[in-house]
Amino acid sequence: MSLEFDLIKRYFSVLSKEDATVELGIGDDGALLNVPIEHQLVVVTDTLVAGVHFPVTTSAYDIAWKALAVNLSDLAAMGAEPAGYSLALTLPEYDEQWLQEFSSGLRDLSQRFNIPLIGGDTTQGPLTITITAQGWVPCQQAVLRSGAKVNDLICVTNTLGDGALGLKLALATEKEHALFFLSEQEKCYALNALNRPMPQLAISTVLRGVVNSAIDVSDGLLADLTHLLNASCKAPIYSSQVKKEHCSELGAEIELTQLPLSSSVMRYVEHTQDWHLPLSGGDDYQLCVTVSPNKFMFLKEQLSAKGVLLTAIGRVTEQAGIQCLQQGQVFNLSGKYQGYCHFKPS
Ligand code: ADP
Ligand code: MG
Repeated sequence: MSLEFDLIKRYFSVLSKEDATVELGIGDDGALLNVPIEHQLVVVTDTLVAGVHFPVTTSAYDIAWKALAVNLSDLAAMGAEPAGYSLALTLPEYDEQWLQEFSSGLRDLSQRFNIPLIGGDTTQGPLTITITAQGWVPCQQAVLRSGAKVNDLICVTNTLGDGALGLKLALATEKEHALFFLSEQEKCYALNALNRPMPQLAISTVLRGVVNSAIDVSDGLLADLTHLLNASCKAPIYSSQVKKEHCSELGAEIELTQLPLSSSVMRYVEHTQDWHLPLSGGDDYQLCVTVSPNKFMFLKEQLSAKGVLLTAIGRVTEQAGIQCLQQGQVFNLSGKYQGYCHFKPS
């Protein structure tokens, strides 16, 4: 058996399963899934590149966990239930220990949400992991970015900025004492948030029919909220000049003191007065949703029953742009509060 097939059999076929949904998993040219009647297929893809999406020192277990988690986070934001995922893996070399750990990371997260591996591709080259995940939603019930309405409450799940603090710690050199004020426990908490983000897939079905819009926070709150606001729009306006309907962008007002922060990030903000981590640090994988005020308490209670904290941090406004307030006073956002962007203008 060639090394490639041996590798697939040893480390990946074990993560497959066949049942009423997955009629055919790993082994043929393609997988066969049965989409439940009156459901739509939701498909998401995310790539992780070594040195870009995770520090090169990250363990194989954590790389696998994160590669799957970021995709499941996208499924969650769509209100989908998990169905299956495929894995395109580019590896520099055949390293048995690395593959065993990688396979364990995939196994542990996929078992939590009962989502099987259904196929993939294996190639040699610089370490890159692309996962494509599939899920279902009942027809026309997917949660979109584009449904936000003026006066909706803007809410986020759990806490913000933990992953970004973890990244700061992971990249800190030994000489750096900038984070001396954090306890070992607080450091561990933040590193764990970076390496083992928990996708909010357990609450995806609760969002349907309740929230008006949702996005997962992967590039930082301000960046992702901007995507959501840009996708949503006020009632379309017909412009006689361009002879078509165009959208007028919505805006938001965020109260910084309402941002849900872990004790680690709170201590960081207190010491540095730098709001960068919760506002524009990436790697949170929490959900940002907008909900009409009269449904907020219902949603909060539903999520609380599933162990997820929901906090209202602001509201959608008619005036475009995001305005941050600190105890009601305007807080000036300088250019550094932008989210992560892969391509910079040349
Ligand atoms: P093909 O020649 O059709 O591209 P491959 O030889 O690449 O097929 O793969 C054989 C089988 O193993 C296919 O079912 C494919 O989906 C699966 N597979 C290949 N690589 C992986 C992987 N990294 N993870 C999961 N399944 C994989
Ligand atoms: Mg192939």
